[in-house]
Amino acid sequence: MAPIKLLSVASEIYPLIKTGGLADVTGALPLALSAENVAVRSLVPGYPLVLAKVGQKNRQAELVQSFADLQGGSARLIAAHTDGLDLLVLDAPHLYGRPGDPYVGPDRRDWPDNAFRFAALAEVAMRIGQGLMPGFVPDVVHAHDWQAALSVALLHYAPGHRPGTVVTVHNLAFPGLFPAHLLHAIGLPAAAFTIDGVEYYGQISFLKAGLQFADRITTVSPTYAREILSAEAGMGFDGLLRARSAVLSGILNGIDEAVWNPENDPRIATRYTVETLAKRADNKAALCGRFGLGDNAGTPLFGVVSRLTAQKGLDLLLDALPMLLSQGAGLVLLGSGDRALEDGFQAAQAAHPGRVGCVIGYDETLAHLIQAGADALLVPSRFEPCGLTQLCALRYGAVPVVARVGGLADSVIDANEMALAADAATGVQFAPVDGDNLNAAIRRTIALFNHRLSWIRMQTNGMSTDVSWRKPASRYAALYREIATRH
Ligand code: ADP
Repeated sequence: MAPIKLLSVASEIYPLIKTGGLADVTGALPLALSAENVAVRSLVPGYPLVLAKVGQKNRQAELVQSFADLQGGSARLIAAHTDGLDLLVLDAPHLYGRPGDPYVGPDRRDWPDNAFRFAALAEVAMRIGQGLMPGFVPDVVHAHDWQAALSVALLHYAPGHRPGTVVTVHNLAFPGLFPAHLLHAIGLPAAAFTIDGVEYYGQISFLKAGLQFADRITTVSPTYAREILSAEAGMGFDGLLRARSAVLSGILNGIDEAVWNPENDPRIATRYTVETLAKRADNKAALCGRFGLGDNAGTPLFGVVSRLTAQKGLDLLLDALPMLLSQGAGLVLLGSGDRALEDGFQAAQAAHPGRVGCVIGYDETLAHLIQAGADALLVPSRFEPCGLTQLCALRYGAVPVVARVGGLADSVIDANEMALAADAATGVQFAPVDGDNLNAAIRRTIALFNHRLSWIRMQTNGMSTDVSWRKPASRYAALYREIATRH
């Protein structure tokens, strides 16, 4: 059978541009889908980093289309192949030609023209969906998060050919809200501004534009798919999601094992496998050296790799730190985000030199070393659609200590009595998410660490868990087959 032709639309794609897990997914899923007879092209904004990569490494970059006026300027669509990805890069300098973060300026505030920047992406996705490129007319358009979701509503309202559509919610906390008066400017008819359209409490929600009209809605774990049906986790979308629950499902993310594999990871100090687990000690020593910690060989070292936001629950960790240290454990943290949290962890480092280390920033190499060297990885999120760092931790033998929410609940097997007896445990879970339960989880983790046999078994179980994209990719492929419009 001819492969399904899929247009994937997202504002980030690893390894070209990444601020979080979204990029990991959109970068890895296309490669895994090739084994499922799905041919993917990925539409991505032409940020400077993306254009530099495409321009330098790829001599076959070809101009596919020109647009005289796309949201107030001329633009080009360039096809290129790099890092195993078939890309369609939207080169629109007036929208994307600025350095730094894709969403916020140097003052950390949203770029003021974000509505137009992502409406342009959606418009081009719609036009490709409708047959702009005769050589590639997609059977399915897959829009990731609010930055791409508007494309589904544009396809809904536009006359003409409509491919099957999927919207994936990577995080419902980002609804993509913009003032109502922009409706026309972003390509929607007046009729779209209703409760059954894109209206969200008096504003336009780009995410809702996708949730309302997509043939299928997915989110990145089965538990999060259930949680978002409740008022508590639904962020105001729960009513809509309940109404559309027949087409909503959760598919747990995988991780890219070509990038995350301790057996051949060039970013860590010493490579190892489940059979040579003892070599992890070299990575722990390197990690302690990098963070200026003393000899922690015999004591548990907790690691964190995270955005520093309220979602991630790291304020609870700051409160738990005195107890963690009193138990003889240490902490290394890599992250950036809210100023108060950045300051809090830096103050903790200053107060406990040699015991607490933190690097404020974004550093992929260091993220790998933390996974390879920390004994346990802490993820105390208040909510977590999937979470990828705990999947990486499983792969690297860092025991995940996680809040029992969303994808964290789906991917870690808690070391309760039965799981330990059955030799199935892979980590520690706690719930509800509050300071007392985090404290208890840290104490329990330290006790397990001191029971060497249980600990090594948990590491071994984790490293043997299938966290690849194979199963998720086959689920996405099955979903595409249900809705593909064949030509
Ligand atoms: P989210 O997408 O909510 O930020 P995830 O756990 O799904 O959280 O994905 C986070 C991804 O970003 C992981 O690949 C993680 O390693 C990476 N990451 C997060 N913060 C940093 C950082 N400061 N430096 C390097 N990588 C980071």
